Amino acid sequence: MLEIGTQTHPSPHQDAIFLLLHKGNVLIHHAEQTPGKEKYQHSLYDFQPDAGTNAVYCGQWQQQDLFVCILTKVPKGFIEIDLRELLFNQDEASYLLISRARQLATWDKDHQYCSRCSTPLKSKHDREHTKICPKCNHRSYPRISPCIIVSIRKGDSILLARGTLSPPGRYSNIAGFVEAGETLEQAVAREVEEEVGIKVKNVTYHSSQPWSFPHQLMTGFLAEYDSGEITPAPGEIEEADWFHIDKLPQIPPTATISGQIIVNHIKQMKSNTNR
Ligand SMILES: [Zn+2]
Repeated sequence: MLEIGTQTHPSPHQDAIFLLLHKGNVLIHHAEQTPGKEKYQHSLYDFQPDAGTNAVYCGQWQQQDLFVCILTKVPKGFIEIDLRELLFNQDEASYLLISRARQLATWDKDHQYCSRCSTPLKSKHDREHTKICPKCNHRSYPRISPCIIVSIRKGDSILLARGTLSPPGRYSNIAGFVEAGETLEQAVAREVEEEVGIKVKNVTYHSSQPWSFPHQLMTGFLAEYDSGEITPAPGEIEEADWFHIDKLPQIPPTATISGQIIVNHIKQMKSNTNR
């Protein structure tokens, strides 16, 4: 696990390890492009950033200081791997490590100037990921956007939907951003009603997962159908339906919170039936 820690953030040094990104993708050596769960270990390098490369401290990985660098071009011998690919390869540990690095790198890149008075933000706080404006003291933190994702049950079926951008056959749960001033539970009720036109009840929290596309924090819930007919929101949901738990279409992999809440919901439904 990556140790986030509370110590003073070091500057890049020669014993540190580096995670390299290009346009949000992870860089790996061409020779190391082997499928498998150890990929993330191969993605960390002894690398010395030059003066023009910004390195952001991420924490300690196996007792070594870890930094992330965004490179403007792919160095010779490296190729890019999409972060989603790690998840779809069932590799949650590397995904979590890289997703933190990517969120911090995005924060550093997107906060070059104070958003209140436009003064350049050069230095970072030495103990936390904060940039403080030298002129007006405004603080900029890495952005984290809470979202909800919910698995909904009706009898022996669960609701699965396909967004307008998803290919045919790829179904998932209802999900969406939490609005200002809203509780997570209110966001669940609103998103479900907006996207498929039904009401839910008995909403219970399940678990959470950072979702760095680019900076969401997914909070997973289980819920039960209450009332209404499925009515997909035009332009957002291509199709949605109830699927019997013994006849499910392809569902998201269990490295994703979307897959985890479906699998655990079904386990819960089956153990309730057997009682
Ligand atoms: Zn300012």
